[in-house]
Amino acid sequence: MKSIRTALNCLVSLTTLLTVSPVHGEVEPPMSGTAPQLRLNNCTEIAAMFPQTAPGQSSLDEALASKHGLFTQQHGSDIEYFAYIGDKQIAVSNYSPLTGEMDLKKRDEDLQRKTEEKLAALERKFAITVSRNQTIKHAANHGAKLEKERAIDVRQPNFGETLALEYALERSLPTTGSKTELQFLFPLQCSLNGALAEWELSTKNKPTVVVEPGTGDRQLEYVLMHELSHHSQYKMGLDPLAPFNWKMTHSLGWQTFTNPLTGETDWAIATTTGLLYKYSSSMRKWISCNKSGQPVDCIGSRVAHQREADHMTSKEIASIAKVRPCTAYMSNPLEVMAEGLAMYRMSKVHRSALLKKSPELYEIIKDFDQKLIAKHYGAGMMRSVDGLVVSLNDSAESHVRDFESHIIASTPTP
Ligand SMILES: [Zn+2]
Repeated sequence: MKSIRTALNCLVSLTTLLTVSPVHGEVEPPMSGTAPQLRLNNCTEIAAMFPQTAPGQSSLDEALASKHGLFTQQHGSDIEYFAYIGDKQIAVSNYSPLTGEMDLKKRDEDLQRKTEEKLAALERKFAITVSRNQTIKHAANHGAKLEKERAIDVRQPNFGETLALEYALERSLPTTGSKTELQFLFPLQCSLNGALAEWELSTKNKPTVVVEPGTGDRQLEYVLMHELSHHSQYKMGLDPLAPFNWKMTHSLGWQTFTNPLTGETDWAIATTTGLLYKYSSSMRKWISCNKSGQPVDCIGSRVAHQREADHMTSKEIASIAKVRPCTAYMSNPLEVMAEGLAMYRMSKVHRSALLKKSPELYEIIKDFDQKLIAKHYGAGMMRSVDGLVVSLNDSAESHVRDFESHIIASTPTP
């Protein structure tokens, strides 16, 4: 049987971000799975990076801002430290021009303090825990067998990452109950085999989001919202250790199969004409298959090897799928759903892109999301178009209806 871990892994791959890039506005080059972290412990180290710094020392500000996940720009005579979160530029602090190393040390301490205060506030507001600089014991429960608990070095997220976390949490409500049930870990070393982040259950059944080093340099808030979408699945009672039993994967246009000859169990995506395709990670193609997952050719006859089967690219499959996925991260229905939820909640632009790309997935996601909101808050709340949970009233409903009508009217029929 195919490893359950593969199904559960939340591999928000670079391919995904590249595919979503029209929404994000730019295409970024691939990064290494072992992207080095910027680890600067003191001002001397920062200064050593820029030995030729000109008077005014603006490069020192840039280096310090980078350490805290921020950017700088001139603001009058001051230097403004700011972050890009979602589609917004968020001002963090204004500082006077540097006069010496002591100034740099003070603003470093100021940013550290602000980060700590923000994290503590998030932990209280959302009933979560976030890692600090320490060594912890952790192991994931992937169902097939429990990992052995191991010591891992984790860190406190920097200011930019903390702001991204705040953005994601605010738009992924409800995330937690009254007690702390969700933890975020930022390990110092990569451990997810190329993934940017993962939602997982610990061996103590604690829902956990693991964020790999380097992910903060990407659009972290989107990655976190994808992971929080997996938490939404969990909160709605979808068992992460038995994903093949999720009935809603059928409404997402997928079928589970077990090949009696090989024991392989997996999903296949259905097309509008009722054909089935399963993903081959070795071929990086979608393989035409029968209801038992056995490869077939273009007229539906069984073939011995999948390389002889009819096959398609992800783009081709997405265009003929019964329920079209919204990004190329579509290897299984769990991820299609997580991508849909993340886009639905992330921003007006993302929600608009989801509706344009796949109206059928949009409706499924909207229904699922509203049921989760109703389960947690009762019937009086709903998701606004910018992702926040608001009171359900005529005005709020009308705003969503107008938004959807406008998108549908302006989208050409495929
Ligand atoms: Zn995922």
